[in-house]
Amino acid sequence: MNIPQTSYPRVVIIGGGFGGIALAKKLAKQEMQVVLLDKHNYHTFQPLLYQVSTGGLEPDSIAYPIRKILSKYPNFYFRLAMVKGVDSEKNTLDTDIGPLKYDYLVLATGSTTNFFGNKEIEANSMIMKTVPEALNLRSLILENFEEALLTDSMDRQDALMNFVIVGAGPTGVELAGALAEIKRGILPKDYPDLDTRRAQINIVQSGDKLLKGMSEKASEKAEDYLEELGVNVWKNTRVTSYDGDLVTTNTDLTFHTATLIWAAGVKGETIKGIDGKDSITFSNRIKVNDYNQVEGFKNIFAIGDIACMVSDDFPAGHPMVAQVAIQQGTHLGVNLVAFLEDEKVMKPFVYKDKGTMATVGRNKAVVDMPKFKFQGVFAWFVWMFVHLFFLIGFRNRVVVFINWVYNYIRFDREARLIIRPYKKEKTKVVKMNAVKTE
Ligand SMILES: Cc1cc2nc3c(=O)[nH]c(=O)nc-3n(C[C@H](O)[C@H](O)[C@H](O)COP(=O)(O)OP(=O)(O)OC[C@H]3O[C@@H](n4cnc5c(N)ncnc54)[C@H](O)[C@@H]3O)c2cc1C
Repeated sequence: MNIPQTSYPRVVIIGGGFGGIALAKKLAKQEMQVVLLDKHNYHTFQPLLYQVSTGGLEPDSIAYPIRKILSKYPNFYFRLAMVKGVDSEKNTLDTDIGPLKYDYLVLATGSTTNFFGNKEIEANSMIMKTVPEALNLRSLILENFEEALLTDSMDRQDALMNFVIVGAGPTGVELAGALAEIKRGILPKDYPDLDTRRAQINIVQSGDKLLKGMSEKASEKAEDYLEELGVNVWKNTRVTSYDGDLVTTNTDLTFHTATLIWAAGVKGETIKGIDGKDSITFSNRIKVNDYNQVEGFKNIFAIGDIACMVSDDFPAGHPMVAQVAIQQGTHLGVNLVAFLEDEKVMKPFVYKDKGTMATVGRNKAVVDMPKFKFQGVFAWFVWMFVHLFFLIGFRNRVVVFINWVYNYIRFDREARLIIRPYKKEKTKVVKMNAVKTE
């Protein structure tokens, strides 16, 4: 990998997401050699992926080169690499660009979409965890309308203009709201020769409330907002299969759709070598102690979505959100410096919940802070401010801010471009037994 062997201990971090970057920033000034490996050469600001999918933002404005974030630190090395496995006996990583030895290893690999074992849905649905996936979705949405304009079959036209989103967490709710705004504000102008009033946006949730982790008030208000925007909200309904056309559920409800978007769950992105059953717990996450140390290992740590730290307050681990990853990354940075001097001085991680928020559309957002809960226009401004604040890179903040102001004034989303057409494979996976989803 062309990384010099120095007298400093080598800390290898796998993953340049929220956790990995926070940790690298903390360690890179210390007397250690910090090596960050990621399969992408950029950090992705996942909370705004839905705006890329719906043409509100260009992908470049929510991604940032990892090298640039850490270029000023002399002891820092980045390598574009896919890590395939860990040999914890030999303290070596197996990657697609060769092996790498570590003294200390930190897993910050985040999470991946959880289909709860349903291979048919996995093969036929759209997901939105990465920039390429968000671009696929953007292309497919636009291609659907282009095809709808040309088809003679009303059934096919309806299926092309029918969108089904599974999962009413923040991602599902934000995406449903954005699609509803496109239907109202953009489709009639772009497709005057198509009856776009027939387009349907459906959100399906297995439980009885939207935004499960938020307050009752936030959940009810989000539902009101979605209904105001014309979204069909289906609660207490579990999607059981999708063959590329027909969606079935555990009730009588079915949909014919060309686009099912799966936003119903995530699970830890584990790595071979640290994925034995003793290491893995809830949602395929790796068990760590209060210091983010992987159970059974002294020199291997895990942070963020991949780490599951069970406590009385969080019996199934912390929520899989950016704040947990950032706080664990920063905290582990302090702990690792201490650990190298004297392992007893490490301090246990305590999560400071700064609140949760989601936006449904223009002037419509819900915010739950530890002491205050509010909704509406002010919440929407708070949501925008917080997202701008945490976005990495001054240029990105400026570009996103200008885009938002422009979109607000013009009721527009100008990035509705099919740059890289998405060819949906007509995969018809043999129906699996219906698998329970969360
Ligand atoms: C659509 C969407 C919307 C979201 N909205 C919000 C929100 O509004 N608020 C909020 O707090 N949270 C939100 N989240 C969750 C939040 O993004 C995650 O909790 C956070 O990104 C976790 O940070 P992390 O550092 O653990 O992992 P990530 O940020 O996911 O980073 C993991 C990194 O590891 C790399 N990686 C993984 N495996 C390998 C490997 N084998 N080899 C090399 N590199 C690897 C990946 O490329 C990635 O860069 C959202 C997530 C999604 C998908």
